[in-house]
Amino acid sequence: MTDFRYETDDEGVATILWDVAGRSMNVMSLVGYADLEVAIETALSDPAVRGIVLTSGKPDFAGGMDLAVLAGMKSAALDAPAREIFNGLMRVHHLLRRIELAGMDPKTKTGGKPIAAALPGTALGIGLELALACHRIFAADRPEARIGLPEIRVGLFPGAGGTTRLCRKLGLMPAAPVLLEGKLMPPRAALAMGLIDEVVAPGDLLARAREWVLSASAEELVKPWDRRGWKMPGGTPYSAEGFLTFVGASAMVTGRTLGLYPAAEAMLGAIYEGAQVDFDTALRIEARHFTSVLLDPVAEAMIRTLFVGKQEMDKGAARPGLPPAPVRHLGVIGAGMMGAAIAHVAARAGIEVTLVDTSLDAAERGRSHAETALARDAASGRLTEAERAAILARIRPADQVAALGDCDLVIEAVFEDPKVKAGVSRSLAGLLAPGAILATNTSTLPVSDLARAAERPADYIGIHFFSPVEKMDLVEIIRGAETAEPAIAKAVDFVRQLRKTPVVVGDARFFYANRCIIPYMNEGLRMLAEGVQPALIENAARQAGMPVGPLQLIDEVSLELGARIARATRAADETATASEADTILFEMVEAGRLGRKAGRGFYDYDAAGKRTGLWPGLAADYPATEDQPRPETLGARFLFVQALEAVRALEEGVLAEARDGDVAAVLGWGFAPWSGGPFSWLDRLGAPTALATCEALALEHGPRFSPPQALRDMAARDGSFRSA
Ligand code: NAD
Repeated sequence: MTDFRYETDDEGVATILWDVAGRSMNVMSLVGYADLEVAIETALSDPAVRGIVLTSGKPDFAGGMDLAVLAGMKSAALDAPAREIFNGLMRVHHLLRRIELAGMDPKTKTGGKPIAAALPGTALGIGLELALACHRIFAADRPEARIGLPEIRVGLFPGAGGTTRLCRKLGLMPAAPVLLEGKLMPPRAALAMGLIDEVVAPGDLLARAREWVLSASAEELVKPWDRRGWKMPGGTPYSAEGFLTFVGASAMVTGRTLGLYPAAEAMLGAIYEGAQVDFDTALRIEARHFTSVLLDPVAEAMIRTLFVGKQEMDKGAARPGLPPAPVRHLGVIGAGMMGAAIAHVAARAGIEVTLVDTSLDAAERGRSHAETALARDAASGRLTEAERAAILARIRPADQVAALGDCDLVIEAVFEDPKVKAGVSRSLAGLLAPGAILATNTSTLPVSDLARAAERPADYIGIHFFSPVEKMDLVEIIRGAETAEPAIAKAVDFVRQLRKTPVVVGDARFFYANRCIIPYMNEGLRMLAEGVQPALIENAARQAGMPVGPLQLIDEVSLELGARIARATRAADETATASEADTILFEMVEAGRLGRKAGRGFYDYDAAGKRTGLWPGLAADYPATEDQPRPETLGARFLFVQALEAVRALEEGVLAEARDGDVAAVLGWGFAPWSGGPFSWLDRLGAPTALATCEALALEHGPRFSPPQALRDMAARDGSFRSA
């Protein structure tokens, strides 16, 4: 056995320890699965074994299934993938059912061996599904641990019995946040909702699980759904109570997914059909729906981008092969919105931070950002008081850059003004130790230009965070013309310390994410100028899979900023003329409709800042034409205008490869996650079709849709970006 260890003690308790060699977190693979099968059979068939504790040899229980295995299953079973996958799933069901029934007599339900799951920390995906098959779930009281079923986030659903068991354990409505939203929670919250059965002090976990195993009655081993007369909590679809639940759930799923995510619909189908039959038949139904989802291109694209690709980048795929260079002491200059948040996330990652602003007062205000967030987490039990205090103590406010002499990385997040930024760089000359890296958080200024004011341009780099820093998983690392490898290695290591995903990009205008998202917003403005109804613009974008419509997005980032960027873009390119999009921005700003912060923009807002609807005045200023375009046509424009920009970024070397472009697009600005990113989307259309559509769009709407040469070449050989 390699992934599971098996031990027995004098009292007849077998402990099965999940401990995958060479990994910090357990993940289930085919090998691990076979090991577990052997361990369970050994324990069940050994008369000396009275019960089993299933636990982990690591601080956490499991991160889930190794999705690379799932992705591989499909390609491995070329001639009959559906049958192979279905049979594979049924083997998993068989083992988990074997655990659940634990050798008991099918008629009398006696003679079974108690099996406890003891979760020392995080238990996700199949880790939790495995626990759900056990008779009782104990979890260590660690607020930072997460318990849940995140499959839906990568285009799947829990397919190892988790869907069927959880619905039967809790009922559809209470289980919905876990199943349909992939909500993860700390052990105490999981206990409160009935996901697990007992929370124990970490040091007592195994003893308590053993104690239960040795004292459990035969009655306690029988799952509710294996008892006579059991009824589905919340009712079956054809009961008066259940009818309303299922109608509501169906509407909720369709409203959220807009029909773009087959996994959510398939899961609901498995629950709906499964609720009407016995447990074992329900598992077969779950396996059939799961098979169909796994064979769907949406799941394939989402897994490839959000799991495989992201994981490669998280591990530092773009990192030069230099020794590890984790940040020990971070300096942050500028304690405004971004600087304060960067200091906060770094301190949480265990890094010492010195936070500098022009006055001590301003620096302390920056630290209070972290203080507020930490207090909230301590109050909700997500952090202990000791952890809260330790994190806050790591942020030291200062009003002089002299305090940064010991830093190995300094990030400036001062005003977006080249003169101010150059002043900061100059003030550091002679101060930073050899090898210390200086980074800028600029979102619009060329890093190579800013590097000129730095003492050592080779040690100067862009580290571009997105707002809100705490939430956004992507960080762009920008190579300036002279940036050397140690700076890239340091920046990648830093982003990994924060548990965010680094993408290393070239130094071209707006780098990658903003370069693609600005045309998306502009396309919405152009449509408005063309006389498309504002509500149609917003809904068509969302139906194409964008999380937020372009007009709402402009309101969020502020129309003033949009107008400033439009002016700067024109100043940078003398051949550019004002577009209809710019004109609308200027007119709206003129009218004082500046966006959400101002309480008025394309939308109206109430006193609490909540959107109340599109501003009715838009209809008068930008009258709608009689004939409105089809939403699909608008959706294609939205996706193409971004995807073509992504192709240009690849062509120009801003992106090292299409994988980076896909991962960064979905994480960075929510590019239609169902598609797996702009390159995956183009591949799915097929390059020749994409090319023909772009040519038609260019004829009708202008050269922004003109196909880049890279797309022409791809179409000529009918190739694909992600397999190229
Ligand atoms: P901000 O105005 O909130 O904060 C800037 C801070 O820098 C202020 O506290 C100011 O007192 C301080 N400062 C100015 N000059 C200084 C100096 N010489 N020494 C020390 N401190 C100084 O700005 P922000 O929104 O946090 O943006 C900061 C940087 O991050 C900009 O380059 C911006 O383009 C970039 N950025 C912003 C966002 C965003 O969404 N706001 C996103 C990504 C990147």
